[in-house]
Amino acid sequence: MSFRIGAIEGAQTSPTGGRVEYRLARNSVVGEFRKGRLSRLDVCDAHPELMRAAEHLGLAAEEPCPICEEEALVSVTFVFGSRLPAGGRCVTSQAELNRYWRRKEPVVCYVIEVCTRCRWNHLLRMYPAGAGVEAVARSPLGSRAAARRN
Ligand SMILES: [Zn+2]
Repeated sequence: MSFRIGAIEGAQTSPTGGRVEYRLARNSVVGEFRKGRLSRLDVCDAHPELMRAAEHLGLAAEEPCPICEEEALVSVTFVFGSRLPAGGRCVTSQAELNRYWRRKEPVVCYVIEVCTRCRWNHLLRMYPAGAGVEAVARSPLGSRAAARRN
């Protein structure tokens, strides 16, 4: 259920479909935690590398952490594709993300929300970019508010 750098379950490294939202899955994990069916140990297990990425490269989200409710969440985007590290590359800025979007080779972007306080983490969405992918399928960093309006 939780994100592992380089080991996203069924991670695609070349786009085979459109954008996928994981918010329902995320909300159901939060629901299970609130009902006491999952413990903090189950859900607050961000990998140290993911924590480092979140602390240094995470983009602030407006939403508070659903688990500890003490810290604002950050989102981290990893890009997978040919000529990129097997574990994906953590995107450091919107400008860098724009470069991946313009790449001739296709890439797949994964957006993960992380709480840097309690280590809660969950995949939010994945979407294809790069070669031949319609701009509409893309998602700017920190676009949670925009997504909510849809
Ligand atoms: Zn938290």
